Amino acid sequence: MASVQLNGLTKHYGEIKAVDDLTLTVHDGEFVVLAGPSGCGKTTILRMIAGLEKPSQGQVAIGEQVVNDLAPQQRQVGMVFQGHAFYPHLTVQANMEFGFAGRKVSRAEVHAKVLEMARLLQIEGLLERFPQELSGGERQRVALGKTLAADPQVWLLDEPFSHLDTNLRYTLRNELTRLRQQVGITTILVTHDLSEAMSLADRIAIVHHGQLLQCGTPAEIYDRPGSRLVAESWGLPPINLLNAHLTQAASNSVDVAVDNSPLRVTVHGNLEALTEGQSVTLGIRPEDVYVTKAGGNSPQNGLPVTLVRVERTGADALLHLQCGSLDLIARAASRSVAELSGDLRIDFDPQSIHLFDQDTGLRITQTATST
Ligand code: ATP
Repeated sequence: MASVQLNGLTKHYGEIKAVDDLTLTVHDGEFVVLAGPSGCGKTTILRMIAGLEKPSQGQVAIGEQVVNDLAPQQRQVGMVFQGHAFYPHLTVQANMEFGFAGRKVSRAEVHAKVLEMARLLQIEGLLERFPQELSGGERQRVALGKTLAADPQVWLLDEPFSHLDTNLRYTLRNELTRLRQQVGITTILVTHDLSEAMSLADRIAIVHHGQLLQCGTPAEIYDRPGSRLVAESWGLPPINLLNAHLTQAASNSVDVAVDNSPLRVTVHGNLEALTEGQSVTLGIRPEDVYVTKAGGNSPQNGLPVTLVRVERTGADALLHLQCGSLDLIARAASRSVAELSGDLRIDFDPQSIHLFDQDTGLRITQTATST
């Protein structure tokens, strides 16, 4: 096992800057997820770590060693792709043994390693089969085993489960967790799947246009996004973002008025740099928008809304709401939706409101109180 250090890593493909001055340290034994929109450079980053692409600028170090000039097979990196390729004329066992090609390891040792990994992944029964005789899930399990058996220092996983069905993904995700607990290897995973990233990662690195926007624990990224871009790119359905401006700015609190709406929020926190009239973006995650019936338990100062559409997603439902000229999405328990008829109101969890500077897009609040 080893740490991975990316220092000012940049990759140009002609006019395209796929990766742009990216600096990131993945610690020994850590599990980091690379996330970000399609085409933001995630695969290119993995390929540069693996030695399959040469950086235009910057360094890749594995452990203490800068590996820019080392060939892929000298880096001791295992990489699993979506739809991993195998040699079709070799059995699963022979394919797994092929992971040791070029290494000075005895035949008996290779055999023992492959059997150990097959046991861990519960694929012993598949060793005599040929790749074309495997299901999609079995192939990906074999790919994980093949790359891990050769004792890599670093494990790179590029959307390894993305073409599998939801149940199988879930099963393999849990297997991956169990496997990592047993082998504890430094791992970098690319995924678009929010729940996969949240459940697997020690830290999530959000990449945008080849640049690292933020790297933090799943809770930090989700609960305290450092910028509007991170908030937008991390969450499904996406965070509600509303244009607003400050109607009052004191040293430790501001009043925020949402544009074209009666919605007002008082925000407390580290606010010295703010000025009255300043434009901001107010962010509210769908699960922090509470929808209640008017009267009864409804908060006195909740705002009236119209329920436009209910989108059931299973245990949860997404409520598409209109509040004056604002469109909002709220998340609620599916079982509670039947009660939501007649006059409805919304309220917000004040602690969960995010404020971003409209010019820089950077986060500007700590805490908020009272709507
Ligand atoms: P996705 O999530 O869709 O897989 P990604 O974040 O992994 O995308 P990359 O595959 O790293 O993104 O691509 C980053 C950018 O570099 C894209 O604009 C892509 O078109 C470009 N690119 C990648 N590989 C090459 C190549 N071999 N030649 C030219 N451009 C490339």
